[in-house]
Amino acid sequence: MLLEGNARFVHGERLHPNQDADRRSESAPRQRPFAVLFGCSDSRLAAEIIFDRGLGDLFVVRTAGHVAGAEVLGSIEYGVTVLGAPLVVVLGHDSCGAVTAASEAERSGAAPAGYLGDVVERVMPSVLAARAAGLTEIDQFVDAHIRRTVTGLVERSALLANAVSDGRCAVVGLSYRLAEGTVSRVAEYGLED
Ligand SMILES: [Zn+2]
Repeated sequence: MLLEGNARFVHGERLHPNQDADRRSESAPRQRPFAVLFGCSDSRLAAEIIFDRGLGDLFVVRTAGHVAGAEVLGSIEYGVTVLGAPLVVVLGHDSCGAVTAASEAERSGAAPAGYLGDVVERVMPSVLAARAAGLTEIDQFVDAHIRRTVTGLVERSALLANAVSDGRCAVVGLSYRLAEGTVSRVAEYGLED
């Protein structure tokens, strides 16, 4: 459903599903999102727009560089275990500012001030691992960070790991291209084709 919606968005054929008054009243008593979308906060990554979905479809959690602290993990666990979403999507994108900032901090040795430093600190291991693997481009770091975020969610959240091993939930990593509007799958856990 997400990939179909993204294809409609890319081709300028959006259907705007589940965005009318009927859907609003039908979904008001109870939400049953079909996916938890955990993405970067980038203003060009608006989830319901780029996947052409509507109300009640996506349980959205977004932070700069899709970094996951305790509240983020709890929100994702809520989407999966309480709301029953069968899919968690990690959504990153090319030219990500958080990944670029981490790359620059690694090069200069100077972390940004304030809580920005916490964001950079959480992206840094992905940048270090990517560099150690011989990667050099920001967009390669981005995909490495998406993969690492997918793995990290399953490793850190026992509730999510249980849902994956029970077959109740899958986790996928998608990489979005800002100019084209397309997504490609760069990681997956527990997905049946
Ligand atoms: Zn970003």
